[in-house]
Amino acid sequence: MRTLSGVQSSGKLHIGNYFGAIRQFVQLQEEGEAYYFIANLHALTTVRDAKLALELTREAALAYLALGVDPKKAVLFRQSDVREVLELNWILGTVVPHAHLERAHSYKDKVAKGISPDFGLFAYPVLMAADILLYSTDFVPVGKDQIQHVEFARDWAVKFNTEYVKGYDPADPDGKERGHAPGILKLPQARIQEATQTVPGVDGKKMSKSYGNTIEMFGDEKEIKKRIMSIKTDSTPVEAPKPVPEGKPADPSLVSEVPLYDLLKLMLPASEFAEVDASWRAGGKGYGDYKKKLLEAFHTTFGPARQRYAELAGDPAELERILQDGAQRARQEASVLMDKVRRAVGIP
Ligand code: ATP
Ligand code: MG
Repeated sequence: MRTLSGVQSSGKLHIGNYFGAIRQFVQLQEEGEAYYFIANLHALTTVRDAKLALELTREAALAYLALGVDPKKAVLFRQSDVREVLELNWILGTVVPHAHLERAHSYKDKVAKGISPDFGLFAYPVLMAADILLYSTDFVPVGKDQIQHVEFARDWAVKFNTEYVKGYDPADPDGKERGHAPGILKLPQARIQEATQTVPGVDGKKMSKSYGNTIEMFGDEKEIKKRIMSIKTDSTPVEAPKPVPEGKPADPSLVSEVPLYDLLKLMLPASEFAEVDASWRAGGKGYGDYKKKLLEAFHTTFGPARQRYAELAGDPAELERILQDGAQRARQEASVLMDKVRRAVGIP
C-alpha cells in the first residue's frame, strides 16, 4: 500500500492542514510506503515573490518534520525536485476534458475569493493528478476540499489507460479479476477523516492559507492569541446559553456558524470537551472564557511540535540533506513510471 499527499507552500501552515491532512500522514507512514511532498509548484498559483516562495517551502518542510513526518519512514521531498511531474502533467493534460476543469469547486472558490483566474490555477487539478499518478499511489489522505481532485485523477488515469493500453478494461483496472491488461496509471483513492474533513477558520469559512482566516501552528504566540480572540461570535450575553451548531449552516459559504464551538470540539480531548459542551449549553460563561480555553488547548496540542520546529530551524543543512535524500528516492520511482508512459505515447 502506498500513500502520497502534499501541502502547498502557499502560506504558513494552519491547524486545518494538520487535522485534515498531516495528522493522517503521520499515522499512515506506519502502515506502508509513504510519499509526502511540499507542493511548491502549486504554490506559484498564489505566491509571486521568489524570496517568500523559498522561505515558505522551507517552513512547510520544517512543519512536516516537527509534526511527526519521519524521513526514515516516509519519502519527504519538494515537488519541484522531481521534474518528471511536469512532463506527466503535460501528457496527462492531453486527455483531460476541459469541462472537468470548469467544474472544479476549488478553482471556483478561489476565483470567487479574488485570486486571479490564471491558467495555472485553472490547470491545478492536472498537476495534482500528475503528482498522484507519478508514484502509483493507492491512498491520498486529504481534506474534503480535495476529494473532487482525487476523483479527477482516477477518471483521467482510466482515460489514459483506455487510450494507450491495449486490452485495458476500466471494469478490471488492475487486470486481476478477469486477466485484462493492467493500466499503466494506477487508480488512487482519497482518504478522508470524517470528523476533521473541513476545519472552519476564524470567520466560519473553510480555514485556508489564502483566505487570511487561519490559526497558524508555528506562528508568533501573540499573533495566535489575537487570531483565537478574533473568532467570530454572536452577541449572546454571558449568562445565556450559547447557540450550538445544528446540521449544515444556512449560508453555503460557511463551514460552521459557530466556529468557536467546532474548534473547541476539535482541539479538546473528548472528556474535557464534554464539560465545555455542558457549560456552553447551560450559560454563565462568556465567549472570552471559551477562547482562553481554546488557546490553552492549542498550546497543549502544538507546544511540543513548536519546540521541535524551533530546534529543526536551527539546522538548515540537515533539512536540505533530508529533502535531497527524499528527492533522490522520489525521482527513482518517478523515472520507472515515466519510462512506461513515454513508451506508451511514443516519446523517445
Ligand atoms: P490554499 O489556500 O493555498 O489552497 P490551504 O490552506 O487550502 O491553502 P492546501 O495546501 O491547499 O491548504 O491543502 C493541503 C491539505 O490540507 C489538503 O489535503 C487539504 O484538503 C487540507 N486542508 C486545507 N484546509 C483544510 C481545512 N480547513 N480543513 C481540513 N483540511 C484542510
Ligand atoms: Mg487549498
